[in-house]
Amino acid sequence: MVVLEDLRQIVGDRVTASPTELYCYSSDASLVGGMPDYVVLPKSTTEVAQILCLASEFEVSVTARGAGTGLAGGAVPVKGGIVLDMSGMNRIIEIDDDNLLVVVEPGIVLDKLNEALEPHGFFFPPDPGSSAMCTIGGLISNNGSGMRCVKYGTCRNYVLDLEVVLADGHIINTGSKMLKSSAGYDLTRLMIGAEGTLGVITEIVLKIIPLPETRKLVIASFETAETAGKAVIKTFSSGIIPSACEILDRTTIQVLKRCDPDLLIPDDDVVLFEVDGTMSSVDESAQRIVDVCATLASSIRIASGKSEMDEIWAARRLVGAAVSRLDPAKSRVYVGEDAGVPLKQIPNLIKRVQEISDEFDVPAMKYGHIGDGNLHVALFIDVMDKSQWKRLMHAADKIHRAAIDLGGTVSCEHGIGRAKAQYMDDQCGPALDTMRAIKAALDPKDILNPGKLGL
Ligand SMILES: Cc1cc2nc3c(=O)[nH]c(=O)nc-3n(C[C@H](O)[C@H](O)[C@H](O)COP(=O)(O)OP(=O)(O)OC[C@H]3O[C@@H](n4cnc5c(N)ncnc54)[C@H](O)[C@@H]3O)c2cc1C
Repeated sequence: MVVLEDLRQIVGDRVTASPTELYCYSSDASLVGGMPDYVVLPKSTTEVAQILCLASEFEVSVTARGAGTGLAGGAVPVKGGIVLDMSGMNRIIEIDDDNLLVVVEPGIVLDKLNEALEPHGFFFPPDPGSSAMCTIGGLISNNGSGMRCVKYGTCRNYVLDLEVVLADGHIINTGSKMLKSSAGYDLTRLMIGAEGTLGVITEIVLKIIPLPETRKLVIASFETAETAGKAVIKTFSSGIIPSACEILDRTTIQVLKRCDPDLLIPDDDVVLFEVDGTMSSVDESAQRIVDVCATLASSIRIASGKSEMDEIWAARRLVGAAVSRLDPAKSRVYVGEDAGVPLKQIPNLIKRVQEISDEFDVPAMKYGHIGDGNLHVALFIDVMDKSQWKRLMHAADKIHRAAIDLGGTVSCEHGIGRAKAQYMDDQCGPALDTMRAIKAALDPKDILNPGKLGL
């Protein structure tokens, strides 16, 4: 068994086994729990490698952790062992304007990175709602994204190279600073979304892109969420790709209006289409969206200017947390919250979710990145009532299974972790065995984040 003293020899006093401090690492933003035996705060790749050598020798589990904002239990040490808190490895090593890339350590917080890139005229597009807290290492390990995915893609589209410490302490680079390479297996993509089960990321090279000149917002409302889904499909099939395309169903609108009664947004189901680019291209795209959706929408208009746009987006970012405004006796529980389906199936998913919500009598607020097929269903209950918990879990299970039935996924961006591990067989089929074989080859002692991904 690894003892505190072994870890202290590597990181000095940046290790703890104090129960109160360990408790802070026993959960993330999901319902999953698990207590570590030690928490270590490494400061360098060498320290991470030494810790993994030690852990491998004594067969102790190691779970990497960024900011712990994950919604699937990914950073929770369900089998105990060591939690590696990577938040202290948070330097921006290089901003390379000429090659349009940035080199960072994994613990840097996403908003901090974009603040540093802004004066250079660049940005890193993935934009989760947790951008003020989450780390780049955690985001990449979940292949997270956000509202801009519809135009700019997920983390996978931006990672050029990862320095990774493998389970036995060996250090590899999975790529290079090249935009393209045909040299062998794509280990970079293998590590993205691996949720810390194949290695610990210690340095990252990211592609960055120029900030768009300007943005415009189209606000459209529809009689039903299904019609809203149809309008989104019609927009895309007309060749318009917005930079964000978000649905807020009428329950979500009620919540927002309780937070801000002056919000200028219709009461029906709403879709927000944002376009970005040059002054002339955004004018043209916004008007085209208005024209394409006009016959389906009950109202449609272009936001008056930046301040109205900022106000609406600020409200949109609030929704996940604001749901209790609807009924103070109820709280949102993060289950069944990240399902997604191919664009064409969006109206069907919305319909199925509503049926499930009615069947189990669990209210559901539906919002999310409808442009990429990702629906965030916010189920809310009185958490003191056991029977409501039971109905909630049944409803969440049915939502996950509906997404799989419709050819989609149980997780578009939050990851599988422990919370969705039971769906991996149905989700992946025989490919899960291939994942298990990869895991066994790279981590034969199963020390890296064990108990995750249904492996
Ligand atoms: C309010 C709120 C809104 C959110 N909105 C979104 C959203 O819009 N889009 C979205 O994609 N997600 C969203 N999330 C989920 C979550 O914030 C993201 O998945 C986030 O990227 C996780 O980052 P983190 O630093 O907190 O990682 P953690 O939760 O600490 O870890 C996540 C996973 O990454 C692994 N990991 C962390 N660092 C490393 C490393 N250096 N090497 C290897 N593995 C590592 C962990 O073991 C774990 O499996 C939201 C969460 C909250 C609470």
